[in-house]
Amino acid sequence: MRHQGGCHCQQFSFETDIDPMLIVQCNCKSCRRLTGSINIGCLYADTEVDFEGETDIYEFAGGSGFINKAHFCSKCNVWLYNKPAPEVMEGMVSIPLDCFDNTNDLAPKVEI
Ligand SMILES: [Zn+2]
Ligand SMILES: [Zn+2]
Repeated sequence: MRHQGGCHCQQFSFETDIDPMLIVQCNCKSCRRLTGSINIGCLYADTEVDFEGETDIYEFAGGSGFINKAHFCSKCNVWLYNKPAPEVMEGMVSIPLDCFDNTNDLAPKVEI
């Protein structure tokens, strides 16, 4: 199924023809600090999604101690996607659920 989304100012957008392989709601403190809420992340292989636009990158150590890269819109600073450390999830990308234009068919399947 086709999905599209992007940031608040519309400088950044993404699209994919594929449903996320997993939708995970993470309630950890790190995610709650990053989002100001809970994080519902849609997991894809990074080759499955086309990204367009400029991002700023914030690097931080995850629970594993390895470095995650969070990408934010360079204009409106919305959190757009997270690249987990390759040591943990090689070639994966997690996109917050609410960056998608239409979330009707996307619901969390796993909660941690
Ligand atoms: Zn933006
Ligand atoms: Zn988390």
